Parts: sequence; C-alpha cells; structure tokens
Amino acid sequence: MFKTIHLRFEQQVALSVGVLCLVLIGASTGGAAWIAKRDAVQRISQETAALAGTMASALDSTMFERFREIQLIAGLEPLKSVWRSDPVKVRNVLNTLQTSLPTYAWIGFAAPDGTVRASTKGILEGASVAARPWFKTGLIGPALSDVHEALLLSKALDAPPQAEPFRFVDVAMPVYDPSKALVGVLGAHLSWRWADEVRKQLLAHRDAPTTIDIWILSSEGKVLLGPKLNDAPFDPDELTMMKAAHRGVFEDESPVGGILTGFAATEGFQTYPGLGWIVVTRIPTRVAFASMDHAMHAVLLLSSVISLVGIFLAWLLARRMAGPVRRLTVAAHQIGRDPATTMLPWLGGSQEFIELSLSLRSLLRRLGVAERERSHAEERATDRSRVFQQTIDSLREEADRDPLTGLLNRRAFLTFAADIIPYYRRYRRTVAILMIDIDFFKAVNDTHGHAGGDTVLCEVADALSFCVRATDKVSRFGGEEFVVLLREVDAAEANVVATKLRAAIENLSVRHGPDVIRVTTSIGAAVVSDADADILALIERADLALYAAKSEGRNCVRFQGAIDESGLSDAA
Ligand code: GH3
Ligand code: MG
Ligand code: MG
Repeated sequence: MFKTIHLRFEQQVALSVGVLCLVLIGASTGGAAWIAKRDAVQRISQETAALAGTMASALDSTMFERFREIQLIAGLEPLKSVWRSDPVKVRNVLNTLQTSLPTYAWIGFAAPDGTVRASTKGILEGASVAARPWFKTGLIGPALSDVHEALLLSKALDAPPQAEPFRFVDVAMPVYDPSKALVGVLGAHLSWRWADEVRKQLLAHRDAPTTIDIWILSSEGKVLLGPKLNDAPFDPDELTMMKAAHRGVFEDESPVGGILTGFAATEGFQTYPGLGWIVVTRIPTRVAFASMDHAMHAVLLLSSVISLVGIFLAWLLARRMAGPVRRLTVAAHQIGRDPATTMLPWLGGSQEFIELSLSLRSLLRRLGVAERERSHAEERATDRSRVFQQTIDSLREEADRDPLTGLLNRRAFLTFAADIIPYYRRYRRTVAILMIDIDFFKAVNDTHGHAGGDTVLCEVADALSFCVRATDKVSRFGGEEFVVLLREVDAAEANVVATKLRAAIENLSVRHGPDVIRVTTSIGAAVVSDADADILALIERADLALYAAKSEGRNCVRFQGAIDESGLSDAA
C-alpha cells in the first residue's frame, strides 16, 4: 500500500536543511517577533496610558487655573469694599475676565439671599439662584460642581436650539468684606466645551487621530465627554480598578473587537481638589498593533524567503558534494558491462570520499587478483582432469585390449556383444560366432619357444582382422583361442567366411628368426537362434562345434545346431 520513496542525496540534504531552516528561523524569528510584540504592546500601552495622563493633567491644570482665578477675584482687595455697593464695578471686572477667557460662559455675584447682583453681560441679574447647588455650596466655602446642563442659562446665553445643550462646570467662592462678614457668593459657569478643545488639541498631534478616542468619565463612571453622554461604558469592577490604579491600561472587548483602553484619574492640583474625573483613551487593538502585525508578516515573509534560498543553496551544495559519489556509481555500474571500464575513478572532495575511492579501488584490485588466481586454478584443474581422462581412457583401452595382439579381450568382447541377442530378437539381425583354435600350438611353443608362439599368435590375429569386414569383430579369448563375430550373415555366408579364415591361416608363413612356422586352425561356428538366451549361449554352441572340429581331425570348420545338421562343413 505504501511505497518507499528513495530520495537522492541532494534532495535529502535540501529537505533536512529546509526543515532545519524552518525550525531555526521559525524559532528565532518567532522568538524575536514575540519579544518585539511584547515590547510593542508595552510601548503602545504606555503611550495609550500616557495620552490619558496628559489629558488628565491638562484638565487638572486648566481647572486649577479657573479655580484660582475665581478664588483670586473673590479675594481681591479693591473689590472688597464695592461687592455690596457698586455692582457696575463688579460687573466690569467679571466682563473683563470673561473677555480674556471665553471659557467662562457666565460669571455672577449673588448676595447671601441668592439674588444675582452683578454678572457678565448682566445676564440673570436680579434673578434668584438661591436654589442652585453652586450657590448653596458656595455659601459654605470654595466649591466645585461637576458637569451638568443648565437650561436656564442656556436659554439666557441664546444657544442654538438644535445644538447639544450647554453643559457647564461650576466654580463658586464665598465673598467676604474687610470685616470678614459674608457678602455673597461668586460663581462661574465654565463651558464644558473647553474639555473637548483640549481633547482635539491632543489628538491633533497624533498620526492617526481618527482611530483613537478620548473620553472623560465622571467619578461615577458616566460619560462626560465621549460618544454617548451619561452612558456608563465600564462595569463597577473596572471603574474601581481604574480609580485604585490611577493610571494604566487594559484590553476590553467590544462588538468590533479588542479595544486597548488607557486610563488616568484626575487628582486635582494644589488648591484645586479635583472632581474625580477619569480620562479614558481607546484604540482598537487591530489598529494599535497594525504596524507590529505588518512587521511580523514582513519578518515571516523574509524568513520564508531565506528558508527557500537556504534550501536551494543546500540543494546546490549537496548536488556538488554528491558529484564524486555519482561518478563512482556510474563507473561501478559500467564495470563488467563496458570492457573499457575496469577501474573506479579517483574521487576528490571530502576526505571521506577520497578514502572511499581509495578503498574501493584497492578492493577492486584485490578482487582482480583473486579472480585471476581462481581462473588459473580452474585452468590447472581442467588440464589435470584432461590428463586424468586421458589416463582413464588409456587404462580402459588397455583393460579392453589384449596386450599381445591388440585385439579385444574376452571381457571387452562380451561387453561389446551383450546386446547382440536382444537386437536379433527385436530386429532379426542375424549374427554368427566363429570359435577359432590353433591346432597343436603347444608343439609350436615347444619347437620355437614361447616367443615364437607369440609371433604366431600376433600373425594369426592380424590375418583374422584383415579377412573380416569392418563391421565384424575379432577378439582373443585366451591362449590360442580367438572368437570372431560376424554380422548380418546366415549359415552359408558364415561358412564362407570361416572357410576363408581357415585357409588364410593355413597359408600363413610365420617368420621367426631363421624359422618359418606354419599353423592350422580348427573353427567351430554357430549362427544365432531363438533358443540362445544370451551371447554366452551362442559362444557355447560355437565352442561345441570347435570341439567337433578338433575331434574330426582339426584344420576344418564345423557348425553347431540346425545349421550343423544341414551338413555344412569345411575340411582341409
Ligand atoms: P590342440 O590341437 O588339441 O588344440 O592342441 P594344443 O597343443 O594346441 O592345445 P593345448 O591346449 O594342449 O596347448 C595350448 C598351449 O598354448 C599351451 C600353452 O603353453 C600355449 N599358450 C597359451 N598361451 C600362450 C601365449 O600367450 N603364448 C605362447 N607362446 N603360448 C601360449
Ligand atoms: Mg586351445
Ligand atoms: Mg589348440
């Protein structure tokens, strides 16, 4: 089911380096990116918190200025004598202050009964502010009241109806005469728009003013400046945390994603006690960390490119490194196939490759020597076996031959003629056996010596061989007895041959030294018959005929069996 894939060396190295590159670059860039992200988060968080802090400080210092101005005017020595007596003079001072700082929407001086005695542009003069919180608290001491709407004042200030209602922050100070007796309350309504101005100024210095927002929350957590006025965007726990920490940053979720939220609580400044406002800066995390994410992507892309380049270079390098081994492989493949290639090449490159080529070349040489030795040994073994075979053949020849006459001996003849009877029975191929015995041979030995007898035996053997066909076979059966096998003959033809042989021997003059020896032979013949069990039976019958020839006077031919009964015979 699974097929094993064998990669090339350079592919293996490229793959390994690729994985290594990815792991190392991934780990290093991942680590660097993690550190960079942590630092960037810290930096951006600090910036976000710092912006809130800057806004909070601006609010505190501005409020302190206003608080101090009202306090200053309430305690001005030149006015102490005229608060009750000269409202025009008081109005002029208040108008001057408002002109120099339009943030003052309204400044007025009310008598202890709440009747406004003097005010900027005379607005609400003669009216009663006895029920107003600022007046009530101002009777007791320096007072502040948080951002609120003032419909009466809005109307008096002729605010456009469609615009959002005027909101104000009140500052109130008790006013005393030189005898330290209370003469009234000096109150100022600060237009809350100045806070928005401060916010805009701060945002104007930012690179992306549209993505960051600044809110101001009251000490109860309600939005004083922000998109949804009087809304409470943070839960009580978050509010408690912000108040406790004074300054910091946290991430909260919104329907559009994570928001990085910096905060700074206002703390008042010197005589200004503060109103517990909390400045909140908000920026979506995706915007806050966008540059960092871009950097991360760039790093990722760069590391991928570096990895790819590394893989390519590793592949090239490995290919170059594997070059010698490839040459070696090609040469090794050719050895035994290409006659021109008999040795492996020298390898260059690394020490291991050099040693490898040296070892393999040495191995090949040793193999060559072993091969030559084996070849020589094989040749020697072949020669020796040839000699053995010749020896065996000659021994077999000697074993089969009569050493004196060179004819087949009895054992070899019987082996040779063993299939005569089966052949006859199967194919009716007739044969005849002639049993030939030299007459009175003992007398030859006695007269001419044993050597003379041997000479006679050799001459008789030659004469017999000469007189028969090449398809016939002559053998020496022992002593002075010979057996001749005649093929494809009937009794008459056998008789012709036997007679011819007997006559040939009778006419033979054997020279032995000065002597001439003459001998005769008696021949018993038998033609194969169905009664013959084997070749020995046929020979036996010829031997009986020989016995008859000897008995009947020698130097004659006699037949045994049926043929013998036909009267065939030959006599000298
Ligand atoms: P017959 O006519 O009855 O055959 O008489 P014969 O003398 O030939 O018969 P016999 O069997 O009495 O004698 C055979 C002799 O042949 C006896 C033996 O010494 C001799 N003889 C046998 N082998 C050899 C041989 O290799 N060389 C010689 N020179 N004589 C042999
Ligand atoms: Mg004999
Ligand atoms: Mg004899």
